[in-house]
Amino acid sequence: MPIRVLSPQIASKIAAGEVTERPMSVVKELVENSLDAGATRISVEIKGGGIEYIRVTDNGVGIAEDEMAVAFERFATSKLVSDGDLESVGTFGFRGEALPSIAAVSRVTMVSRPQGEDSGIQVDLNAGSLIRKQQVGAAPGTSVTVRGLFHNLPARRKFLSSAASEATRVQSAVGRFALARPDVSFSLTVEARSQFVTNGSGSLREAMAAVYGADVAEAMLDIETQGRDDAPIQVGGLIGRPSLARSNRNHVTIYVNGRWVQNRSLTFALHEAYRGFLMERRFPIAVVSIVVPYEEVDVNVHPSKTEVRIRDEGRVFAALQRAVRETLTANLPVQELSTRHTMPSVGTAPADSRSFWPIPLPQDQATQDGATPGLPLQTDPVQPSQQPLIPHRALPALRVVGQIKTTYIAAEGPDGMYLIDQHAAHERVLFETIKEAARTGSPSVQGLMEPATVDLTPEQVEFVEAHRPSVKGLGFDLEEFGGTTFVLRGVPALLVSEDPPGALRDVLDMMAEGGGYESWEERAAYSLACHSAIRAGKVLTLRETEELVRQLEQCSQPHTCPHGRPTMIHLSQSRLEEEFGRRG
Ligand code: ADP
Ligand code: MG
Repeated sequence: MPIRVLSPQIASKIAAGEVTERPMSVVKELVENSLDAGATRISVEIKGGGIEYIRVTDNGVGIAEDEMAVAFERFATSKLVSDGDLESVGTFGFRGEALPSIAAVSRVTMVSRPQGEDSGIQVDLNAGSLIRKQQVGAAPGTSVTVRGLFHNLPARRKFLSSAASEATRVQSAVGRFALARPDVSFSLTVEARSQFVTNGSGSLREAMAAVYGADVAEAMLDIETQGRDDAPIQVGGLIGRPSLARSNRNHVTIYVNGRWVQNRSLTFALHEAYRGFLMERRFPIAVVSIVVPYEEVDVNVHPSKTEVRIRDEGRVFAALQRAVRETLTANLPVQELSTRHTMPSVGTAPADSRSFWPIPLPQDQATQDGATPGLPLQTDPVQPSQQPLIPHRALPALRVVGQIKTTYIAAEGPDGMYLIDQHAAHERVLFETIKEAARTGSPSVQGLMEPATVDLTPEQVEFVEAHRPSVKGLGFDLEEFGGTTFVLRGVPALLVSEDPPGALRDVLDMMAEGGGYESWEERAAYSLACHSAIRAGKVLTLRETEELVRQLEQCSQPHTCPHGRPTMIHLSQSRLEEEFGRRG
């Protein structure tokens, strides 16, 4: 075949694929154009997940009449004039690729009225060709409507997820813009329902309240700059207290020079800064903005521009880590630093009369001689020289003596005395039970008397869609309601929670968390066990304590709870004798 230069239509269709991957990327480009145009109010509306309809309206500078059609030509941009400008790009756009790319794969209508003009101009394009241009009445600013995305590229359209899932992606993206620019009022409407409106007051906390809810916003900590206001690298934003921790890594949003970025090493720096503040496998929620001199970053890595290259990454990494670390230490009481004091507090027992071991463990499961489990915790520092308090051997048969402080169970064994933490022990029992039920695909489901509606995050919705059988297999009876809302009709029978939707969200986060070394069954079991285990502070009858100890004896790893904390401490016969001076 002879070599030919591609026709402009084909060339732009190919290029379109890079910028215009899905509705979310179209929204992103249009919103960036609005921001570049100096808008202070931007509204985003989508229908059919954005595949049918996207409209982004702003109150920015607008586009002059004679430039309306030019804006849709490839490499037409008002933002980059000379080669030198490429070195220090301060606007979002600069490639002049977005509008032509979007127009090539959809039907676009753009209406714009420059500030100072009396009326606007509307242009209509189909598959990249201008089909009409007319004068219209319009508010100052620009509005771009995109219909029938990929109508002329069916292969591409097949790659899209369901409308609900595409909508949640759009929602995430607009949420990130709203948090990046609290000085701009953003509104998002999905299928004619308003999702959020930020007030544009400039307060990140207020924007956060609109996007994440007032509770979360209120509990966030302001990053403290510690008098480094004139440092070349500025770190600001809000970071979550450890109590707001989530069970996956999706809740960290980082901006560099106002642009949302996905940068592994910065994300890692932030997680590292939380080290010691969070329990194992809990992850922070944070919205962090880093400002570095423009010439320090290269955003021209990929057309989608979420990857940036930072010249001196080490310095930015260090600045971020220091700012987060200092904020945490300045704001948090010392004991939260220590994993020794993270046991649930006394007195939080939910009033619950249901029997708390609905699934008895199979009796024929022999007590295993547990290989020494990895014990991350130290023994009690008050008695450093002694033998370890945490038993390393399998559990012998124990005789329960009684309950202490409605928190511990005292028991006697062949070699001395055991103190068992009832919550940790029950967590271990439930963890192994749930894992087994999930493995054999035999969950027992308990219907909710009043089905609850649950609002999920985009990531959670995506996970549910991708792993419906797994979620069901765990015992969650979930039904689509529309958008990101689901109806929860049943929960795993052994879930004891006053907040089933909250439990579901936690379990989904936990399941969605990659990490690799555990199966999803394990992660889900871990989360469900946390929710359902009896609390410290719950009064137990002697029969109940005996039953719990029996079940713990059946566990394959009875010595630690699934978080790795000890379920019990052991005072051996010889230790007791030593302490009482009976031996010497
Ligand atoms: P880029 O943003 O890279 O310049 P685009 O294709 O996204 O390229 O846009 C082309 C041009 O159209 C922009 O440079 C700008 O002049 C104009 N434009 C696009 N959207 C808007 C808007 N919402 N308000 C004002 N001007 C706009
Ligand atoms: Mg642009």
